[in-house]
Amino acid sequence: LDQVNRIYESPRGALHALKDVSLSIQEGEFISIVGPSGCGKSTLLKCIAGLERASSGSLTLQGQIITEPPRNMGVVFQRDLLLEWRNILDNVLLAAEFHDQKPRDLEPRARELLALFGLGQFLERYPRELSGGMRQRVSICRALLLDPQLLLMDEPFGALDPFTRDELNAELQRTWLATGKTVVFITHSIAEAVYLGTRVVIMGRGPGRIEDVVPIGIERPRGLDVRETPAFVD
Ligand code: ATP
Ligand code: MG
Repeated sequence: LDQVNRIYESPRGALHALKDVSLSIQEGEFISIVGPSGCGKSTLLKCIAGLERASSGSLTLQGQIITEPPRNMGVVFQRDLLLEWRNILDNVLLAAEFHDQKPRDLEPRARELLALFGLGQFLERYPRELSGGMRQRVSICRALLLDPQLLLMDEPFGALDPFTRDELNAELQRTWLATGKTVVFITHSIAEAVYLGTRVVIMGRGPGRIEDVVPIGIERPRGLDVRETPAFVD
């Protein structure tokens, strides 16, 4: 990201949600983003995901400018956004449909992921029959279905109780260690950010706008040396 700005125009005036944000993400990094409510974290994530357009500045993914939601990204939001009228398996397979893939081709992978996240017995169940933690596991499986290189997560466990949250953090960390994916993880919990992240990015806030983005270097040996690789998201 280079000097990215996002301004929301409305009849009540313009709101500068992101102001000159620059950030490079290396492949394999686990970046935690923290910052006060309203500082623009979700806006930033949506811009990276291609779900929103920056008003100015540039975002590139491996040198390519991000214009629409790329296939090599998976997104998990705070609200799980599951479709209540579809069973768990079909909710995971939505990711295939969204990217014009044949759901049937990806069904074995969907089953495998759900089993990996402890939901192998629940394939035919509907979202309302699951707990919050299980529902969020389904969204993670959906985000992972197409084996994205980049996993974007916006306060994915914010609505969960502390025990479930710890469990899911451990599962997420295991997935990250096992796959070497690049993760951008937004959280309100500094403890969670530091525990999971190889780098913690703190977003500040002025009167309704971003003042700065300060990456603080928390180096955690994880067997992955990401410092020598070129920027993945820039
Ligand atoms: P939180 O921690 O509460 O989730 P956040 O850091 O994710 O906050 P954003 O959701 O990115 O914050 O919002 C940043 C600013 O942009 C806020 O002032 C918000 O009101 C504004 N904003 C976000 N989305 C829109 C929109 N679609 N239209 C107008 N303003 C918006
Ligand atoms: Mg947000």
